[in-house]
Amino acid sequence: MPAYALRALVLRKTKLGEADQILHLLAADGRSVRAVAKGMRKPTSRFAGRLEPGSVADLMLNPGRSLEVISDARSVDLHPALRDDYDRSTAASVVLDVLDKVAVEGQAEERLFGLADATLTALEHAPAEENMRAVVTAFLVKAMAMHGYRPHLDSCVSCACAADGGSGFSLEAGGLVCPACGTASGPAPRLSAGARDLLGWLLGATMAEVASAQIPARSLAECFALLRAFVAYHLPARLKALEFYANGSGS
Ligand SMILES: [Zn+2]
Repeated sequence: MPAYALRALVLRKTKLGEADQILHLLAADGRSVRAVAKGMRKPTSRFAGRLEPGSVADLMLNPGRSLEVISDARSVDLHPALRDDYDRSTAASVVLDVLDKVAVEGQAEERLFGLADATLTALEHAPAEENMRAVVTAFLVKAMAMHGYRPHLDSCVSCACAADGGSGFSLEAGGLVCPACGTASGPAPRLSAGARDLLGWLLGATMAEVASAQIPARSLAECFALLRAFVAYHLPARLKALEFYANGSGS
């Protein structure tokens, strides 16, 4: 197979041998790709500074025996603000870590890259820490929806009765449960009407809208806590960046 071009977002890098890096990438079509950047850890490398986590680049890839090998890289968007600021960088690391876990090798999900890029751009421009938290929360619910776990918020997910805010939320079934169904399936986290409405709004809003909206802190904290539990329940891997982010800000 000849060399081919690929636009990709760098999610994570791990060391290989003396001077190489393995890059975990999210391709523009939403696939997960791993590729070797030879010599990237040498200070003189032409890849240095261009392929840090959070950067989008146009790559030339040569198929290798087990991993692709990067022969050329041109920066598209380095998202530099994400590295200059502690709050932005910890929020972005949650996004990159979740993408690294939900993207699948060889399985395209066209919307994932657009969501990733819009989220990182919104994190760069969000005016304050609470706006960044809203962006991360919106990212979590949208990414879960793309991954097949769109929260069911209109009625009881189990019996289809008109469950309303103030009901429980079943992590397993992925939606609101009325008191009767909630009791039957074991304890479910409560979700207030305000948080239920916010979750629905976050699903539909653009990232730019989320980053500039004034969102009630209590409802946002409730949605974030629920999504943290929802993501942990359904993604098999441990999300260290999300745990660090949640604990670091006292929620
Ligand atoms: Zn029910």
